[in-house]
Amino acid sequence: MAEVRLENVRKEFGGVVAVEDVSLTVADREFLTLVGPSGCGKSTTLRMICGLERMSGGQVFFDDVPVAHLPANKRDVAMVFQSYALYPHKTVAQNLGFALRNLRVPKAEIAARVDEVAASLGIESLLERKPKELSGGQRQRVALGRAVIRDAGAYLLDEPLSNLDAQLRGSMRAELKRLHADLSRTFIYVTHDQVEAMTMSDRIAVMKDGLVQQCASPEEIYARPANLFVASFMGSPPMNFLTGEVQRDGGRLLFRHGAVTIELPEHAGAAVDELAGRDAVLGIRPEDVLLAGSGGAAGQIFVAELLGADVLVTVRLGEELVKARVPAPYDGRVNAAVSVVIDPDKVHLFDPSDGRAVL
Ligand code: ATP
Repeated sequence: MAEVRLENVRKEFGGVVAVEDVSLTVADREFLTLVGPSGCGKSTTLRMICGLERMSGGQVFFDDVPVAHLPANKRDVAMVFQSYALYPHKTVAQNLGFALRNLRVPKAEIAARVDEVAASLGIESLLERKPKELSGGQRQRVALGRAVIRDAGAYLLDEPLSNLDAQLRGSMRAELKRLHADLSRTFIYVTHDQVEAMTMSDRIAVMKDGLVQQCASPEEIYARPANLFVASFMGSPPMNFLTGEVQRDGGRLLFRHGAVTIELPEHAGAAVDELAGRDAVLGIRPEDVLLAGSGGAAGQIFVAELLGADVLVTVRLGEELVKARVPAPYDGRVNAAVSVVIDPDKVHLFDPSDGRAVL
């Protein structure tokens, strides 16, 4: 069993603050992903959990036991890196079994574990090959296998799919999720790819500038982003943002942006009062923007792009471009007039002074 808890973890390199102050608890057997843009401190956070980097402050606990003083090999963790180095002169089977041989596990047991792990990763037929006889995806599987062959309380993965092409990344995402279910162990995963974070995780911690911006389930992060950064980073194509003003008008709650008026839902009352008299930022995801013949704000089609099952339609609305994701087929002729209807129940409001979500 391994619950991993970080309390006020901090890391400075010289004068550079890589991780400012991170507190979070990864439950036993949970798949938690640290996601954020390059340089936000996610790799450094993972390296402090596994013991490859000393903390400048704070503490890491495994099942309530502080581990800051323990070197990496004394912590109950296995790590998979982006740049996996396989032993070039050893076969796949020998690469897989290496850690167990070091632990002096009996030969027959190593052979059985190698077969088991190879089967779970679909590399049974490759066991006698050398790394140079493998494709990139096969090598990545061997690297994963080498880590998961050891029984560890927590598996720490730093961008393990980033060297793979898009198609392989997609299939490996599903396999990693299966592997997590099969192993039933704690996984802490680092990526800058929000799709990986969304598809695999039980919970996601979104990081920026050495701080966790929000830590919640993928559904929660997507539906209720805590601030403008999370709202803009998570979701593809990204959320639309419009800067305008909110006001009460009789019994109605309105957002106005130039000639565009959007009626807000009843439960937006407190948010409207909070932002009244200053700028407000309205956020709406492309799938919550509907295109109709009439009844909404008048716009003009700027461009329409077929995504497959959906069409991404960019509409000029006043001076802004708003994206709508509508089911295909959609006749999106350039410059055609269109009426933009925003689903009021799906609207987000942010306070631009600090980025905080108020609705
Ligand atoms: P990436 O996705 O690019 O790997 P990241 O979110 O994982 O980014 P970190 O690698 O944790 O970010 O780095 C966080 C910050 O700390 C960056 O500004 C980086 O330049 C700095 N940093 C990381 N390692 C060191 C180091 N050994 N010495 C000095 N600065 C470092």
